[in-house]
Amino acid sequence: MSLLEDLVAANRILAEHGVIDGYGHVSVRCEKNPNRYWIARSLAPELVTEADLMEFDLDSNPIDQRGRPMYTERYIHGEIYKTRPEVNAVVHNHSPSVIPFGITQQPMRPVYHMSGFVGFGVPVFEIRDSRTDTDLLVSDTYLGAALAKTLGNKPCALMRGHGAVVVAENIPVVVGRSIYLEMNARLQSQAMTLAGPGGEITYLSDGEVKASLVRQDYQRSWQLWRAKGLSKV
Ligand code: MN
Repeated sequence: MSLLEDLVAANRILAEHGVIDGYGHVSVRCEKNPNRYWIARSLAPELVTEADLMEFDLDSNPIDQRGRPMYTERYIHGEIYKTRPEVNAVVHNHSPSVIPFGITQQPMRPVYHMSGFVGFGVPVFEIRDSRTDTDLLVSDTYLGAALAKTLGNKPCALMRGHGAVVVAENIPVVVGRSIYLEMNARLQSQAMTLAGPGGEITYLSDGEVKASLVRQDYQRSWQLWRAKGLSKV
């Protein structure tokens, strides 16, 4: 089991769960050199194999491009690795259920124990604060750094009218958080509809948020997800 094999599995797992589709990406910090990271060449994540993985420096320049096309938004990854030394894995996605929370004044809140990390706060990145009339893509180091600043020390941030970014200390946790962020958004929207305007919703308390983190290494699920993801090679 290698780190790059885990990265291939992560691509397929996130696609299988509808967190990424033809777009979106996942990266991992290089084990040997913390100033580099691995991410696939520009390719639909479900098709990624180990041969498609490319190494980048933290300014998101390729180490050995060999003519391969690169993701336009790879700067998201490089700029977050610069500001978060404890983060070793990053996901950028267009996870559908989170979008409403990026375009309204409704904050994401933790609805259940699998997504307790939501309780640490989910900031929203407003790209217009950095540049107006963009295509919403984080396509250079300047926008990447602005996004990293909005993310701050949190596990995830929404990107208004675009998607989300999720970070963690390793691949299993970043995959688990990405899946359960989408799930939390869906369930929270359902609860808000069910409760109606002004209706009360019981979210996790701060104490429950902290206590539930123990269960959120997603290790048991990761073993299953990984096996299923790699069996599709
Ligand atoms: Mn995107």
